[in-house]
Amino acid sequence: AVERYVGLVDLPADTTCGKRINLHMNAGLMADLPSLASSGAEGVGLFRTELQFLIRNKVPRRGELASLYGRVMDAARGKRVAFRTLDIGSDKVLPYMKPQDEPNPAMGWRAIRVGLDKRGVMRMQLQALIRACAGRPLTIMFPFVAQFEEFRAAKAMLEAELVSEKRLGRVLPTEVEVGAMLETPSLAFAPDQFFEETDFISIGGNDLKQFFFAADRENERVRRRYDTLNVSFLTFIRQIVDRCNAHGTPVSFCGEDAGRPVEAVALAAMGVRTLSMRPASIGPVKSVLRKVDLDRVTALVDEAAARGDQSVRSAIVAYLAENGI
Ligand code: PEP
Ligand code: MG
Repeated sequence: AVERYVGLVDLPADTTCGKRINLHMNAGLMADLPSLASSGAEGVGLFRTELQFLIRNKVPRRGELASLYGRVMDAARGKRVAFRTLDIGSDKVLPYMKPQDEPNPAMGWRAIRVGLDKRGVMRMQLQALIRACAGRPLTIMFPFVAQFEEFRAAKAMLEAELVSEKRLGRVLPTEVEVGAMLETPSLAFAPDQFFEETDFISIGGNDLKQFFFAADRENERVRRRYDTLNVSFLTFIRQIVDRCNAHGTPVSFCGEDAGRPVEAVALAAMGVRTLSMRPASIGPVKSVLRKVDLDRVTALVDEAAARGDQSVRSAIVAYLAENGI
C-alpha cells in the first residue's frame, strides 16, 4: 500500500481547482523524524512533548530535553518543527505527579493550566527549547488555551526566559514564532487582539470536537454519534479560518481528522490550507487532494447546510465516487 504513494512524495498537494494544501506531520519521538523525508512532509506541524515526561519516573532534566530537541531540529534539516509545550493531565498522567482525582480530567487541570500554575516545569522546558534552537528559528505552541489571557501569560513567560538567556550571554534563536492551539470553542470567540498577537493558530481537532459536541473523545459510545462532517462543526471550522484570515494569522489543523482523506477534503474545503497528520497518512491524503475540486466540495457543504442536513459525509463520498477518486 505504501508503494502506491512513493511517486507522490515530491509532488505538492495541489487540487484540480488550483489550491495548494500544505501537508505536515505529527511527531513525538526522535524515531519519528526519518519520516519527514520519506513521507514528503513539509515540516512537523505538531511535536508532542509529553512522551519524554511520561516514560521516566521523574521530571527529565533541562539538559536532556535541550539535547533531544536539538537532535530533533538537526534531523529536521531546516524544516519547521512546531514544539508543543507539555500537555499533561487529562488522559496523560505523569507517574510522579500527585494524582489529582478530578471528576472530569479532560476539562480539568491540564496542559497550559498546569504550566501557568506550576511554573517551574514550564520554565525549564522553555529554557530547553530556547537552548536547542540557539542560532536557528524556534517555533512553540501552547496547548489547550481557552482564553486570551492564558496565551498572553504563557508568551510572557517565554519572553522572560529569552531575556534571561540573553543576560547570560547565550546565543538566542534567530527568530521565535509563538502560536496557540485552538482546542476549546471559547478561543474561537476570543477578542481580535488574540488573533493579532498569535503568530499562528493550530486547531486541535480532537479536543475541539469533543468540546464542541460535549462528547468525550475516549468514550466510543458517545463519540461515534458526532461526525466531523457534521455541517455545524464544519461551519464552525470555516468561521475560525475566516477569523484567522481576516487577521492574516496562519491557521493549521492537527487533529487525527487531518489524516483521514474524506475529512481532510472537507477541512480543506472550509479553507484550511495546512494539515498536520501522522506520516503514514500523508500519501493517501495527498493522493485524494490532488484529484479534488475543492470549490465543488465547498458547494456541497453549502447545499447540505441549506437543506438542513446533519452531515455532508454522504454527499462528499458520492462526489468522490462519481469522480473515480
Ligand atoms: C488535538 O486535540 O487535536 C491534538 C492535536 O492534541 P492531542 O490529541 O494531543 O490532545
Ligand atoms: Mg489536544
